[in-house]
Amino acid sequence: MKYDLHIHSALSPCANDDMTPANVAGMAKLAGADIIAVTDHNSALNLPAVKAACDAYDLKLLPGIEVNTQEEIHVLCYFSTVDTALKFSELLYEHLPAFPYDEEIWGRQLVMDENDEILRTVPKLLTGALDMDIYEVKAACEAAGGICVPAHIDADSYSILSVLGFFPDDIVFDTIEVKFPARLDPLLQKGFVPRECSVVTSSDAHQLDKIAENLKELPKDTSLWQLIDGV
Ligand SMILES: [Zn+2]
Ligand SMILES: [Zn+2]
Repeated sequence: MKYDLHIHSALSPCANDDMTPANVAGMAKLAGADIIAVTDHNSALNLPAVKAACDAYDLKLLPGIEVNTQEEIHVLCYFSTVDTALKFSELLYEHLPAFPYDEEIWGRQLVMDENDEILRTVPKLLTGALDMDIYEVKAACEAAGGICVPAHIDADSYSILSVLGFFPDDIVFDTIEVKFPARLDPLLQKGFVPRECSVVTSSDAHQLDKIAENLKELPKDTSLWQLIDGV
């Protein structure tokens, strides 16, 4: 199953406004993906429209959110249903600071319907750091039946390695996301990454032409299959 499990929609202020639900699903289908996850920053509000668009294109959707923890570590939280992701999104919104938000500086945060019409915008800046640390985010995600995957662990910022410098022994992940697969071997050899983790690589697309770049088959050993089998 060819996957791209990290894509932003126009709800993310840093994503282009033409990352509409139908455009994202259509581009992913054209690129040959079988399953996608739209993972906006700290919010699932576009997932109902994305789900409708994916259904129209006969594409599987794994509902997801890219959460920014208190430490400023990005973790991808995946769920088996859009409703569960929406409930989790409500919890995150309560834990998001009411940062003064100017859409001319940060970009618009568009909530859209299944016809790509704008329903509303979101008043709090969605890319802010929550007042929940990585332990609390992972526990809350798992309590809701979700699976938590550290995002772009090899990135120079907003990654578990750039912030903490290591994977703590007392927090265990089944699956991790690597941005550049060539960086993985040196990290494994030097012991920065637990060897038992399953590894995924997605586009982290913020613009249409990046969606589903370099598609791969989903690893057989990732626990994400537990969620995917239900979607
Ligand atoms: Zn990120
Ligand atoms: Zn991202």
